[in-house]
Amino acid sequence: MTVHILPHPFLAGGPKRLLIGGKHVDAISGKTFETCNPATGELLATVAEGGAEDIDLAVKVARETFDEGPWRRTLPVERQTILLRLADLVEREIESLALLDTLDMGAPIRHTRGSGAFLISLLRYYAGMARGLHGETLTPSIPGMFACTLREPVGVVGAITPWNGPLWAAVLKIGPVLATGCTLVLKPAEDSPLSALRLGELVLEAGAPPGVVNIVPGFGATAGAALAAHGGVDKVAFTGSGATGRKIIEASAGNLKRLSLELGGKSPNIVFADADLKAAAPAAAVAAFANSGQICSAGTRLFVERPIYEEFVAEVAAFGAKLKIGDGRDIETDLGPLVSAKQRERVEGYLDSARADGANIISGGSRPAQPALAQGYFMTPTVLTGVNDQMRVTREEIFGPVVSAMPFDTIEEVTKRANATPFGLGAGVWTRDNGKALRMGRDLRAGSVWVNAYNVLDPAVPAGGYKESGYGREYGADHLYDHLNVKSFWMKTD
Ligand code: ADP
Repeated sequence: MTVHILPHPFLAGGPKRLLIGGKHVDAISGKTFETCNPATGELLATVAEGGAEDIDLAVKVARETFDEGPWRRTLPVERQTILLRLADLVEREIESLALLDTLDMGAPIRHTRGSGAFLISLLRYYAGMARGLHGETLTPSIPGMFACTLREPVGVVGAITPWNGPLWAAVLKIGPVLATGCTLVLKPAEDSPLSALRLGELVLEAGAPPGVVNIVPGFGATAGAALAAHGGVDKVAFTGSGATGRKIIEASAGNLKRLSLELGGKSPNIVFADADLKAAAPAAAVAAFANSGQICSAGTRLFVERPIYEEFVAEVAAFGAKLKIGDGRDIETDLGPLVSAKQRERVEGYLDSARADGANIISGGSRPAQPALAQGYFMTPTVLTGVNDQMRVTREEIFGPVVSAMPFDTIEEVTKRANATPFGLGAGVWTRDNGKALRMGRDLRAGSVWVNAYNVLDPAVPAGGYKESGYGREYGADHLYDHLNVKSFWMKTD
């Protein structure tokens, strides 16, 4: 096992401090909180705990930087240069950033390192887009009038991110802000604040003026709520649970700030008997178990056409059982721990409810037996059968390595059942029949539908929710335009 030696260079020294106006500062209250490695329970770092007053300070700085400074009028080429430099810096430091996330929230180093290439390419995509954003020239039916639209940065963005992909989430929030000329106060999740703090330093090193990107770790009910409610914030970009999303909508009402919400999911993954089952079975396991199931678009409702149901589900279970559970620092680890004791209890609570409802746990369903893993918050990948659409485990987002496998008989039936959820983030379809694929692509109510693939992302392709999975899109041009206001400019010409 190749375990890196602690401490990580970023963890050396005293408490990690807030990053406001380009400076490291303590919380005004002087409070700190601890962040631990969920694989071992070890303390990683003490972090300044931002509260409402720190959020207020950070928003003032971001506001002033936006309103008074030259930032929002920088030329697109300058913002592009900063983003390209940032991408180079992330490339230089990817090992270190990946390890920070592995330590802070447990994901396997292969996974965090593997995401690096994508995140670097995402930053380069935003860099390209920085020069491609534009308004339009229009043709009103009023004689002698000229009209065009200008796209102007929306202002101060408050970003609130979850712990399941901390660096990823931070890049997704920082990239469009830098590309469009907005400013940002980012509150990373309290369970995993470290990589966002380091990324904030790299943003400065890349040449963004101080005050453009501010990072304020803290708790949701205090720092997060203050950011969502703050009258100096023009837009909140939130990724997290539906319950918190609803609170953010309420908090945002004061100044009617713009919102984008990337919330939970309970995504269907539908396998027809005519599919390439050799490809579909491992993919279905990965769709459900990757990142220990802590992915919003995880394929947690596995619908399998009845003739192949038993055999297919057995293969998914066998694939899951072979995944190596362990400390994320081990290069051979496939599945790390859940992020916290609380999260594991939550997942175990769902398994208790499945048992009480009469479901069968055909694999997993417990903590791993190895004594070496006893200090971490590990769970074995779990396949449930004997479930129906009404049980809690098939209706609610679990955010753990648990998949509910259900047989179906007809395309009409499975479409209806797949859509019978308040969520609509992603959906997978496995078939060799193009007609079926197109029909499902049209009829499934989800922000992304993948055919013969699952959870594919690309910087140029938008992703986001239907229904209670949220609104607004990340990735793609829509993501950037969501950070811009449209101004109509009129002029009498004759
Ligand atoms: P999870 O259950 O996955 O932790 P949350 O939605 O609670 O999801 O957390 C996602 C982010 O939202 C975290 O950064 C958290 O601190 C923040 N958060 C939690 N509660 C609130 C709130 N009331 N207002 C604003 N942000 C919050």
